[in-house]
Order: sequence, then C-alpha cells, then structure tokens
Amino acid sequence: MTSNTAAAAIAGTGAEAGYGGELRPGWGKEEILGLFSLPFNDLLHRSHEIHRRNWDVNEIQLSTLVSVKTGGCAENCGYCGQSAHHEAKIEATKMMPLEEVMAAARKAKEAGATRLCMGAAWRSLRDRDLPHLMDIISGVKGEGMETCVTLGMLTTEQAQKLKESGLDYYNHNVDTSEEYYGEIVTTHTFQDRLDTLGNVRAAGLKVCSGGIVGMGEDRADRAGMLATLANLNPPPESVPVNMLVPIPGTPLADRPAVDPLELVRTIAVARILMPRSRVRLSAGREAMSDAIQALCFFAGANSMFYGERLLTANNPVEDKDRALFERLGLHAEIVQELRARPVGVAAAG
Ligand code: SF4
Repeated sequence: MTSNTAAAAIAGTGAEAGYGGELRPGWGKEEILGLFSLPFNDLLHRSHEIHRRNWDVNEIQLSTLVSVKTGGCAENCGYCGQSAHHEAKIEATKMMPLEEVMAAARKAKEAGATRLCMGAAWRSLRDRDLPHLMDIISGVKGEGMETCVTLGMLTTEQAQKLKESGLDYYNHNVDTSEEYYGEIVTTHTFQDRLDTLGNVRAAGLKVCSGGIVGMGEDRADRAGMLATLANLNPPPESVPVNMLVPIPGTPLADRPAVDPLELVRTIAVARILMPRSRVRLSAGREAMSDAIQALCFFAGANSMFYGERLLTANNPVEDKDRALFERLGLHAEIVQELRARPVGVAAAG
C-alpha cells in the first residue's frame, strides 16, 4: 500500500466513524475526560485521523526561543527558575540589546527556525519598555521570521502597539486548570491570564497558549486546561504542551514524573479539540526518548522548540533533532518569506 493509499484508507475510516475534528465551542470536561480514557490505540487513531485531515502530517513548524530579559521576576510561578521568590534564583539580566536579538534571530533562521519567540521575565509589560520591544519585533519581522513574544500581562493598548510593530503571536499560557491554578501561583489569578488573552485577541494578534503536564495536577486538571483553551473563541492558533522540567530550588522540584504516555494522550486530546491549531511539543523534550517524541508527532504535535536552550531548561541539540527528523521522514515548515532561500535543516523540504 502506498502512503497515499494508506492515508486515504485512514481518512475514510475516520469519516465513516464520524470522527469530526471540526471546530466547535462548548467542550465539556466530562466529554474531554472520556477522550482521555479511550484505549490508547483508539485515541491515537482518532487524533491522527483528524491531524491528517487538517495538516501535512510530516511537516513540523520550528520555533526558537530567546530570553530577552532573564530572571528576577516578581511572580511566584512554582515551576519557574526565574522567580525571585524561589531559591533557584537564576541570575537576573538587563534587557538584551537589539543587535544581540538580531544576531540570535539570524542564527535561528539559518538553523531552520521560522518563528522567533522572545520572552521577558516580569509580571507585566511596562510602557517604558515598549519602544525597545517594538524595535526588536520589527527587526526580527524584517528578517522574514514570524514573531512571538511572551511579556506577562498586558493591556489592549499595549497589544495594539505590539501588533503595529509587526508582532504575529502573543504567548500567555494558562498552565493548568482554573481549579489547580492557585496551587501553582498566587501572585496573579487564572482570570488575569484570561483577561490578557482577551486583550491580545482584541488587538487582532494570534494567540499562543498552552500548559504544563507534571506539576502534580490530575487528569481532570489536564482536561480542564484543554477545555479552557478549546472553548476560547477562537481557540489559540498555537498550543504549547510542556512536560515539567523540575528545576532545583523551585517548589515543584520534587514532583514525581508523569508517565510519558499521559503526555502523548494530552497531545492527542489537544489535537482532537483544536484540529486547526499548531500543537507544540515544548519544554521537557530533553528527557523524552525519541520513541515518545515520535508518538507525540503521530498523536498530533506539529510544532516544536528548536535550539539549544528554552528559557531556563536545556533542549535537545539541533543535530539530534535533525537526525530524528531524518529517521521519521519529517520536514520543517518553510514560511513563504523564506521559500526563496534554503534553510539549514537537512530534512527540510
Ligand atoms: S513563569 Fe513568567 S511570570 Fe511566572 S515567575 Fe517565571 S518569568 Fe515570572
């Protein structure tokens, strides 16, 4: 059977089974828990069929993350080494100069990334930092890359300014369920997160929002988190799913590891609920086997962070990722602006 014939057979089976995969509001937590509870093969068959119907299943979007201002954050997110509340206390830095960000952007682009995500560790964006960030965004955009920033809470007016400078995506994770949120952070609320996401949408920006698996939450919390995301109208265009990277000196340093197959299930359910969103395999990849990552791609993940470090955690080195891409027959997404120029990923196509 050729791969096309196989694809048609799978798609046909899915349609006959009425698998849907269309956007719809009103996902209930019980309904989502029902998906989580499916036999593993049934769940992955269903999510993969929806994935195949909506995406090139062999294409992965690559994002590179740059921390433009690290550490010393006034918030107390329990998983984060950048919080000034925790013993981890990663050394605080000043805002990165424009030239340094541009050098990082060019390096990421040469390595095959199509999106640069830039993060600053603070509670909320201050107006006095806006002009510099706008220069950074327009500079990176000028390189032909998609731009994403994560700058904490922001107002609609600030979101509009960022959009005017060329911003494509704003990242603001809901992290977990509303019920479990207070166990993870107490310096802001779940509603604060939703308010910022609303301000981002009101400015016409694309939304990147997801969460973390392995913080001590239970499956109902994972279902609740995905319900929140899927019921946003519209859902986020980009949904990062992280596995907790336990950082010594943070309150979550000793959380027991979650079965990696539960991460695969979480990605599969995210794909079913949000068929047209990029589901990103994010932090925690370094601790994952190639086989688990392959299962995540099969389940519906079609984006990943690429490059040596995430904000505070190691990420598999680029050569290892390239080798995995080759073994799995995957290729990197190439955005329109980059099509005229070959990128440095061996399996790019
Ligand atoms: S996750 Fe963000 S807001 Fe929370 S402590 Fe870390 S840098 Fe601050």
